[in-house]
Amino acid sequence: MKLKMKPVIDELKPYEPGKPIEVVKEELGLNSVIKLASNENPHGPSRAVQKQLQQAGTPNVYPDGHARELRQAVADYLQVNEGQLLFGAGSDEVILLLCRAMLSEQTNTVMATPTFSQYKQNAAVEGAKIMEVPLNDGVHDLDAMMDSIDKETRIVWICNPNNPSGTYVNAADFSAFMERVPSDVLVVLDEAYGEYVEASDYPNSLEMLNTYENVLILRTFSKMYGLAGLRIGYAVGAEPLISKIEPLRPPFNTTTLAQKAAVAALDDQTFVQDCREKNKREKHKLNTFFQEKGCFPYPSETNFLLVDVGVNGDRVFDALLHRGIIVRSGEALGFPNCIRVSIGTEKENEQFMGNFSEWLTTLEQ
Ligand SMILES: *Cc1c(COP(=O)(O)O)cnc(C)c1O
Repeated sequence: MKLKMKPVIDELKPYEPGKPIEVVKEELGLNSVIKLASNENPHGPSRAVQKQLQQAGTPNVYPDGHARELRQAVADYLQVNEGQLLFGAGSDEVILLLCRAMLSEQTNTVMATPTFSQYKQNAAVEGAKIMEVPLNDGVHDLDAMMDSIDKETRIVWICNPNNPSGTYVNAADFSAFMERVPSDVLVVLDEAYGEYVEASDYPNSLEMLNTYENVLILRTFSKMYGLAGLRIGYAVGAEPLISKIEPLRPPFNTTTLAQKAAVAALDDQTFVQDCREKNKREKHKLNTFFQEKGCFPYPSETNFLLVDVGVNGDRVFDALLHRGIIVRSGEALGFPNCIRVSIGTEKENEQFMGNFSEWLTTLEQ
């Protein structure tokens, strides 16, 4: 091809999503396939949201770019000012906007490895130097991350709980970290799985916003709220920061349908509570199962488990795929001997455990 791209573009790989169910059915000639690969809510969205979706309204009219109704609802729910919110087509888009606004070739950004792939991907497009700090037993190494901050650092990413390890940074460690981070460095707390956290010492990030203007929280409706297909998420931060990013936002980046569904989803906290309980129960079951099978599940505060299975994750992925179960291989996620399994419904998890056990016995022969 003769077209000339930015040099960095040649080095980028496209995001590898979990395999879609329909593709697997077709490729392998299977009738029944379950997907435990993308950390979606297997129970969602709530009935209230489904009802809302049936009244789709006016697709010929542009959405409210300001997302007024949703903005009010979220501000109310979190007890923050409306000007502290920025909405995106998923928190993915907010990550992109932050990188566009703050990173360039002269700057760097600090993140854990392995962590959520989109921080690195978007930072790379902007030409920023990427400082990756290995996890320590699956957990962010905040001391080492602190040590890699220098004068050129613009953004530090803390995925809390971390995808793909499921582990979390506690309140005391995060506070101690914030005490030391220079106030001109933005600390992004990605709380995509925050609604699933059970640990009582999980940081109260909204409270941290009152002390630190350089903290930004990312939340999404894709996981617990069950709206991954509608693409809606947001950032909460200090108003001066949010108002700087706002002009970069495409004017109609979130759809009317997504905004309406998100309002209904936020309003149904009973559903959230119910899903959290189910996830907790099923997570416990799966943890026990893996331990009994001699595997090591990382302690998870999310709706997925990263499990060290002692053999290459691609092999396990393939074996399960042929049995109609889609998981993620740890190979592409930076944990070669692991698989990442989303916690499904009770029935899905039983199907998973049955097949995993059967596959294990084929290994032993
Ligand atoms: C799923 C996920 C997101 C992205 O969610 P969207 O709002 O759907 O873009 C962000 N961060 C982490 C860690 C995730 O796992």
